[in-house]
Amino acid sequence: MRVTVLSGGIGGARFLSGLRRVLDPSDPITVIGNTGDDAWLFGLRVCPDLDTVMYTLGGGIDPDKGWGRDSESWRAKEELGAYGAGPVWFGLGDRDLGTHLARTHLLREGHPLSEVTRILCARWQPGVRLLPMTDEPVETHVEIDDPETGLRRWVHFQEYWVRLQGPVAHGVRFDGIEVATAGPGVLQAIVEADLVVVPPSNPVVSVGTILSVAGVADAIRTARAPVVGVSPIVSGAPVRGMADRLLPLVDVPVTAAGVGEHYGSRTRGGLLDGWLVDASDAGCVAELVSIGLPTRAVPLLMTDPAATDEIARAVLAMADAVGGR
Ligand code: GDP
Ligand code: CA
Repeated sequence: MRVTVLSGGIGGARFLSGLRRVLDPSDPITVIGNTGDDAWLFGLRVCPDLDTVMYTLGGGIDPDKGWGRDSESWRAKEELGAYGAGPVWFGLGDRDLGTHLARTHLLREGHPLSEVTRILCARWQPGVRLLPMTDEPVETHVEIDDPETGLRRWVHFQEYWVRLQGPVAHGVRFDGIEVATAGPGVLQAIVEADLVVVPPSNPVVSVGTILSVAGVADAIRTARAPVVGVSPIVSGAPVRGMADRLLPLVDVPVTAAGVGEHYGSRTRGGLLDGWLVDASDAGCVAELVSIGLPTRAVPLLMTDPAATDEIARAVLAMADAVGGR
């Protein structure tokens, strides 16, 4: 069975670790990774979501933070700080810097990001094929009230989230998306899949970005395989992150039902054949079923590997139940 998953960072990566354990090792998983979080820092190309997937599945993640390398040290960052060289707010650890140096070097040699990612993954052996959603640069920006001047301005997503810690947002846009084309293998991975999964990643700045790449949403709408989604919203709030600040920008209620309706049922022009909500949100199941979206309520907190594996199993069971087209 060939499974294709659209993934952001932590939520997607944790789900993928369960899916990889639960599936037969011979069942290939392709991950279409969000690159809208990517940024240039100190002349280095940083790809936070791709790295979170690569480190998590490759056994190199800091398990407590959920991002960055394990056993990390911060000496380079201290040196940069001593020079007053910014941005000081972005956590570039020494081990992690090695990845960004290697990536930037390969990009400068002329390799596209998809090829660079393949080379970096050769070290980590994540057990999945990790494809950037596009090889072209796309950078998510968020409109905020500047805390210093009070004036509205657009900031890079990393500045919004890491430096400013997710203030009220007035807009979100994906710079470069109009000219971005799907990366090598991306559309094919959706067309040829036996199962497509939308994991509990941020619906706006992770899944939303990937779906905005030309051809991706259409490929999912018309895919042969069942498409099953997992809610990142539990009991009316994101489990972590800033989805509650960003969903209102696309007129989506911060509820499991709201996100399910936002993705929509494929029987009515949407993206999903099945939707999983947390057991605490079981109250919305009947309503979603009535609008043509088969929905089940199961525990959706990825508190430990066993709980995460159960979520992956629930996705496979849902896929069996709803079938493809
Ligand atoms: P990011 O790029 O690191 O922000 O990661 P993703 O976009 O892949 O995932 C972020 C989303 O994961 C957030 O909206 C969270 O609500 C969701 N999330 C994190 N942990 C859990 C969990 O244990 N269960 C569920 N259902 N969602 C989670
Ligand atoms: Ca992200």
